[in-house]
Amino acid sequence: VVVLAASSGGGLVAYADSQPDQPQGFKKKKVVVLGTGWAGTTFLRNLDSKLYDVQVISPRNYFAFTPLLPSVTCGTVEPRSVVEPIRRILEKKGGDFKFWEAECFKIDPANKKIHCRSNVGTNLDGNGEFLVDYDYLVVAVGARSNTFNTPGVTENCHFLKEVEDAQKIRRSVMDCFEKASLPYLNEEERKKNLHFVVVGGGPTGVEFAAELHDFVTEDLSKLYPSIQHLVKISLIEAADHILTMFDKRITNFAEDKFGRDGIDVKTGYKVVKVSKDAITMQNPATGDIAVPYGMAVWSTGIGTRPFVVDFMKQIGQANRRVLATDEWLRVRECDDVYAVGDCATINQRRVMEDISEIFRVADKDKSGTLTVKEIQDILEDIYVRYPQVKLYMKSKQMNGIADLIRTGKGDTEKESVDLSIEEFKKALSLVDSQVKNLPATAQVAAQQGQYLATCFNKMQAAEENPEGPIRIRGEGRHRFNPFRYRHLGQFAPLGGEQTAAQLPGDWVSIGHSSQWLWYSVYVTKQISWRTRALVISDWGRRFIFGRDSSG
Ligand code: FAD
Ligand code: MG
Ligand code: MG
Ligand code: MG
Ligand code: MG
Repeated sequence: VVVLAASSGGGLVAYADSQPDQPQGFKKKKVVVLGTGWAGTTFLRNLDSKLYDVQVISPRNYFAFTPLLPSVTCGTVEPRSVVEPIRRILEKKGGDFKFWEAECFKIDPANKKIHCRSNVGTNLDGNGEFLVDYDYLVVAVGARSNTFNTPGVTENCHFLKEVEDAQKIRRSVMDCFEKASLPYLNEEERKKNLHFVVVGGGPTGVEFAAELHDFVTEDLSKLYPSIQHLVKISLIEAADHILTMFDKRITNFAEDKFGRDGIDVKTGYKVVKVSKDAITMQNPATGDIAVPYGMAVWSTGIGTRPFVVDFMKQIGQANRRVLATDEWLRVRECDDVYAVGDCATINQRRVMEDISEIFRVADKDKSGTLTVKEIQDILEDIYVRYPQVKLYMKSKQMNGIADLIRTGKGDTEKESVDLSIEEFKKALSLVDSQVKNLPATAQVAAQQGQYLATCFNKMQAAEENPEGPIRIRGEGRHRFNPFRYRHLGQFAPLGGEQTAAQLPGDWVSIGHSSQWLWYSVYVTKQISWRTRALVISDWGRRFIFGRDSSG
């Protein structure tokens, strides 16, 4: 591979002396951000643009508001209403930002360089490749759709990940209706064309099925009266229920509602093959069944992008499925590389790995035992460093430290007793069971982007004043508190102007009022006033005129 280090790509170092508030000869550090999705864009919007020389690399030059993609599949919302050009976002911020529309295909951490390939133009070598070097790299490239190597999926199914996918689905739905209307088809063939299959009963699959059902019953039934009774929507899920990440009440409501709507929910079925004309699924009781279909959407999960897998091999993470970071979102075993959003998971440190060290730090008087006071003094630091301890306390309705000691001692009478290391270990032995991976959601990605920007904004100041929670030997000094996720709730739109909402504290609300909550939250979460206005007008247009069926 001949790599041309484009002068525009490789040589962006000359920003010295341009900042009045920086000392003479001060060279800004180069931050390279890969990706313009939820994590990358939120990072960029919150980064203090005076402090760094920033280059952004992404194969698409816009941010996409993914929660509204299912609405795009049926024309409830227009594609342009859910995207915002990244250059407009950067321009609004001012400062040193460069954007390259290209895809990173290799990270070289040893030389602190990334290899990129433009998808819009070529260089003299005809391949559009160039190198970019970094001081800090922020990997925010999201995930790819996962077919789990099921044969025929890539060739025959639609995915629902990008705006283009949603547009293709919309065209495909209309094609199915037009095909089914052709004069020379028999009933069987019409039915096949009007069989819409959604694989995957997660939030995206469920919302798409609901949206499609509304589109068919509210709009298309009027336009295709002679074939509308042949339409069938199937939702296939390998687990026993759909929406398993939600409260049981929501799952039940959704399954009942879909049943009433005539959506065929097939739980316990695993799709094993997809051909041009049929989807083959498997169930222990029935064996393999092949059903003819007109269009299929595959929405079963996410996987790691190939170049990230390659990067993981280079840094000794070959045996992992997802790129691992520590709680500060630093890629493990790789200096100056950070990863946020769907492309990474936080490898939460276990209490049991550090228990002796925690004990040593807590035992201020070096007595070899811990008093209640000693434990109380360190508890806040423990909570910050090991959030599972706080979760554990809550989950067992434990009454603070007294109960912790009781558990350790197995003695409900005495409260003010000293704990030996063994007893301390016993008291905390179950807390690591509370470690959970964060979900792959926009909410997590955005909070991580924001957190990381805050760290970057304070990095220089913090280097001079290191401080933070308990430091574990060999881990270096922690200048900031670790990332902490705040769950603000989750929606599952179920069609017919009904939405299920699960808010913090397991507060569940289902129906038309949550639909209005959904509208208002998604309006406020819009990235600009422009998209906000567009989305509202799309909704208004739909209420008055219905969805458009051309295409
Ligand atoms: P993404 O937003 O996917 O961004 C990845 C970015 O990296 C993109 O700009 C991409 O072009 C770029 N990129 C890809 N490859 C490369 C490369 N090689 N080099 C450089 N750049 C690259 N979450 C919610 O919380 N609520 C919802 O209601 C919700 N609804 C959803 C509906 C749909 C249809 C989908 C698909 C997702 C939904 N999600 C929702 C999940 C949410 O969109 C993701 O969790 C979120 O987008 C993750 O953000 P990210 O920045 O990690 O990745
Ligand atoms: Mg991103
Ligand atoms: Mg996105
Ligand atoms: Mg993640
Ligand atoms: Mg002591």
